Amino acid sequence: MDCIFCKIACGEIKADIEYQDDKIVIFHDLNPQAPVHLLAIPKDHIQSLDHINESNCNAVSHIFKHLPKIAKKFGIENGYRLVSNCGEKAGQTVNHLHFHILGGRDMRWPPG
Ligand code: AMP
Ligand code: ZN
Repeated sequence: MDCIFCKIACGEIKADIEYQDDKIVIFHDLNPQAPVHLLAIPKDHIQSLDHINESNCNAVSHIFKHLPKIAKKFGIENGYRLVSNCGEKAGQTVNHLHFHILGGRDMRWPPG
């Protein structure tokens, strides 16, 4: 499968990785939209939020478990946003489930 995030997960494409284990990778976005802009992905391919199910949700909860530690490490706790664009209409450009972790600046609401 020609999936750029699968290639990052298996080390075939280099990324600026902050954290990884057997289930997930957290790395810096190539085109940051905030002073801190990380992407958290499951290592196994899940296309989007629409494709989470009983058998693959363990990796998703594993991502959530690591969020407080990552936020603390970057000094953005109590001031960050987690975003997952699901599908073309929501602006998803990479079809491998990912959570944007954005922080380090004031955020507006609603997002565009
Ligand atoms: P989305 O538009 O929500 O699908 O987000 C995809 C994100 O992946 C964008 O913010 C891109 O800047 C980022 N991105 C694409 N390719 C890479 C890469 N090779 N390394 C790091 N970030 C990437
Ligand atoms: Zn993938």
